[in-house]
Amino acid sequence: MTFIMKLAAAHILFCLGFASQLFAHGPGKDSDFAGKRVLYIGVDGCRADALSAAMDRGLAPQLKMLCESEHGLFTRKFYAGGEQGTPTHQPTISAPGWSSLLTGVWMDRHGVKDNRFIGGRYQSYSHFMRHVKEVQPKAFCASFADWPPIHDFIADGSRINGTEFLDVKFTRTPDAAHHFVDNPEKDIEVRDAALKTLRESNPDVMFVYFGQVDEFGHGAVDSRASFSPDSTLYLNAISHVDSHIGELLRAMRARQKFNDETWLVLITTDHGGRGNKHGGDSDEERKIWLAAHGASLPKEKLLNEETPQTALVPMIYQHLGIQPKAEWSPEPPPVEKPELPAK
Ligand SMILES: [Zn+2]
Repeated sequence: MTFIMKLAAAHILFCLGFASQLFAHGPGKDSDFAGKRVLYIGVDGCRADALSAAMDRGLAPQLKMLCESEHGLFTRKFYAGGEQGTPTHQPTISAPGWSSLLTGVWMDRHGVKDNRFIGGRYQSYSHFMRHVKEVQPKAFCASFADWPPIHDFIADGSRINGTEFLDVKFTRTPDAAHHFVDNPEKDIEVRDAALKTLRESNPDVMFVYFGQVDEFGHGAVDSRASFSPDSTLYLNAISHVDSHIGELLRAMRARQKFNDETWLVLITTDHGGRGNKHGGDSDEERKIWLAAHGASLPKEKLLNEETPQTALVPMIYQHLGIQPKAEWSPEPPPVEKPELPAK
């Protein structure tokens, strides 16, 4: 390399460095929604009365603080399982539940009736982040989960011609052969990956899923635990996840541009449980909760009216100022042939 070439290279590096000082705030720096961002956290299998008990006993201080702050709310009028006696009625299990929470429609449209995901129609009723990306191709979308079907079926099944819409897709797989005993560790890995993205990138929408509360409810991690406000082990699992949520909230607030950003925080679960099971229509399984924070939320409505878990995705669109797809029209579109999930 000649001296002139070295000089030119140094000049380019200097310019890049200078430019990065001015503009670089990591990937996704071009805020596509005027600084409006979404942090959406999913806690699998967290029964509503158990979460209330945990908050009352000081075991979930982070959630309690968020809900009691200005623009915060906690409601137990949220529900899973669809409308009983109609084609939307779905079992209170993870695959239909997270499908509804991530697409904004019930089983009559997303097509997923059990954890095998057979009949999923995510090409038509997609993961909400696909729609965010369609509306704004520069949007930065990130998802973190230690239940692999969240990504392998719901996200990947929503891709058109294999086109990825997630800028970050972080998956951890608990050890099913050993009764998911390592699920609490996987939650830590999910938390740490999400923290890194919050600190180093600029996610417009972010989904973070924690699995250990459900595994404790099933008695998988510890056979003495169950889905109950009286199970200390179950409440302890909620407490662990609460501390992870606290770290995510602190990282969000510590962002350099936090004062110029408008974050909507949504935290919920897919279903409750009874004993070591769930899937039925009891209040303990169907009645869930929403913890949220954001000035754009219809707070009075959420506190006073029964709200389906399908209402969450439209709240995200409302916050970002994007139009929902025709999927929310009162008239369902024509029935299509079921398609197998892409995997
Ligand atoms: Zn679940």
